[in-house]
Amino acid sequence: MPRGITPRQPSRTGHHEGTRTAASRKNPGALRTPRTGEGARPHLVRAAAKPRRKNSYNPTAPVRIEEILKRLDTLYAGVTCALHHKTAWELLVATILSAQSTDVRVNMVTPELFGKYPTVQDFAALTPEQLQPDIRSTGFFRNNSKSVVGAAKKIVSDFNGQVPDQMDQLLALPGVARKTANVVLGTWFKKNEGVVVDTHVHRISRRLELTSHDDPKNIEQDLMKIIPRERWTLFSHQVIWHGRKLCIARRPKCADCPLENICHAADKTWSTVEIHKKAK
Ligand code: SF4
Repeated sequence: MPRGITPRQPSRTGHHEGTRTAASRKNPGALRTPRTGEGARPHLVRAAAKPRRKNSYNPTAPVRIEEILKRLDTLYAGVTCALHHKTAWELLVATILSAQSTDVRVNMVTPELFGKYPTVQDFAALTPEQLQPDIRSTGFFRNNSKSVVGAAKKIVSDFNGQVPDQMDQLLALPGVARKTANVVLGTWFKKNEGVVVDTHVHRISRRLELTSHDDPKNIEQDLMKIIPRERWTLFSHQVIWHGRKLCIARRPKCADCPLENICHAADKTWSTVEIHKKAK
């Protein structure tokens, strides 16, 4: 035998590598089954220890967000706030009144209201009780009349009769929270300071898995992280329109929805894609 060549030794286990037994012939995969402990074949054990590929679906991946925005643009090009207004003050009042009402209802009330009280000073001169009959049909009229009159008095006393264009100043007005402030800043002052999270944005953001939160504050934070800032106001309006037209609360019109094949909402009424139980 030439030098340097070691003759092959019999296996100590009695199983020669590559030897095919009756069992392995029946089940070829058995040979590849890695063993652990004594007698383990390290290269096979290493292969088995590889982590399984995780489900790579990421609902907030930039490419998905871009697609959602693109489809919203096609559906709702150039939409804006549905509340009728001619000044920042009128928009502020209409937004306060819309909190527990519909935009349609508010638009029925405001022409007469602003005809009767044309300026913020006119509202500031009222008591909440005097305003109540004029806004009764919008619901929550006792609270809303306090908010509107209180906001008018503060605007007249602290801001020289001008609706402020800063978030912190708007939030200092009675009855004004981030949603109302975002509407006024985005729609009237063209400032993208946040995303308007009303009932439609709340519902649709969850259906589209853009957030898993259930409170407006955290939903807004999530949306601000994934939607480009220059889109915040437009995105809000587009989603609000989508909520009115197609993605309605009780029975969304999924069969007519151009977002259908990228939406996995649990309460879809029709679907061509898998449903995600938590997407609601
Ligand atoms: S597919 Fe249905 S649930 Fe999803 S966004 Fe469209 S209307 Fe809403």
